[in-house]
Amino acid sequence: MREKLVAGNWKMNGGLAQNKALLETVIAGIADVRGMGCAVCVPYPYLFQAQSSLQDTAIAWGAQNLSQHDKGAFTGEVSSAMLLDFGCKYVLVGHSERRAIYGEDDATVALKFEAAQKAGLTPILCVGETLQERESGVTEAVVARQLDAVTGKFGVDALSKAVVAYEPVWAIGTGKTASPEQAQAVHAFIRGKIASQSKNVADGLVIQYGGSVKGSNAAELFGMPDIDGGLIGGASLDAREFLAICHAAKR
Ligand code: PEP
Repeated sequence: MREKLVAGNWKMNGGLAQNKALLETVIAGIADVRGMGCAVCVPYPYLFQAQSSLQDTAIAWGAQNLSQHDKGAFTGEVSSAMLLDFGCKYVLVGHSERRAIYGEDDATVALKFEAAQKAGLTPILCVGETLQERESGVTEAVVARQLDAVTGKFGVDALSKAVVAYEPVWAIGTGKTASPEQAQAVHAFIRGKIASQSKNVADGLVIQYGGSVKGSNAAELFGMPDIDGGLIGGASLDAREFLAICHAAKR
């Protein structure tokens, strides 16, 4: 039985005082939530704050990106070892904003995935189609290509210590959620594709849904057989909403 995982992606939001209030409310509210995993992926400067606040709680923390390089002349970049120094468990890899705004292609995303895994971090590999791709009927081909970039290079077993987040780009930050049926269809496709290479890996793989998840739609989405929790952007900045989503994920 896969445990659901709800992970917040704060994106480039927050501030020391705001984070303190948010984390304190989430810590207090999560105490009675059992049978699900919870994490927050915060901006780099707040990793120390996340570590200090969350280290004795059931909430894990992580980053939103990492360098594919170990160290050296890469001004502005942050390595996997640096994330480990701050106790990170997770790191997002290939978020659609990184792909679209910063030009990260499939090959770069695969290298970042590898860097994270080699260091012992759990990469959350984000995949998903744009609206234009969905309307052209190539959703499955796009998601397959994004997955193949990793499994083709490192083998399907690389996914046994990773999380996949299906995030249709048209649903991210737009308020337009994929219907539970639309999301389930792509999740089933992903699991089926992985199962054709390894049933074991597919059965254990946590596949999150991301895209305008809120307290009001989480239970319906998480009720689908192949949706194992969510990657939450905007709603993770609101403690009440985030907690409602976590409650919807518990067994
Ligand atoms: C995200 O940034 O990964 C995301 C899903 O954002 P939102 O929940 O705001 O759509």
